[in-house]
Amino acid sequence: MSVSAELRLLLAERDKNRCAYCLTSEENCGLRMHVDHIKPETAGGKTTLANLCLACFSCNVHKGATQQRADPLTRETVFLFHPLRQNWNDHFCWDERRIKIIGLTPCGRATILTLQMNNSTVVKARHRWVSAGWHPPVL
Ligand SMILES: [Zn+2]
Repeated sequence: MSVSAELRLLLAERDKNRCAYCLTSEENCGLRMHVDHIKPETAGGKTTLANLCLACFSCNVHKGATQQRADPLTRETVFLFHPLRQNWNDHFCWDERRIKIIGLTPCGRATILTLQMNNSTVVKARHRWVSAGWHPPVL
């Protein structure tokens, strides 16, 4: 995969410099977002704006080439969240402390599980971001 500087700039603007899955921002984590192929390249996903999104290192690495997963609640196998075709608020919400992401749908829960969106490292970081008033972002 090769993402041109121009494409990277368009992605940064569209995705507001944050992970399209867990909404972690570059400013909060201090790390450059990865570019994720929503449909993996190994499954024929193209390197185009319509198939790319920004993703944090953690979400990107845990997602890998996974496209589907069983919902831990209903055991229904579903496609993972598609940041461009689906609305984050339809599938996820924050817990009352705004630190953990809750899956509202089979897709949301399967995505949280696969991408480990509530891993202990990011949960500790979110606690600090909330204390500082930097999180969660307004969608
Ligand atoms: Zn993320």
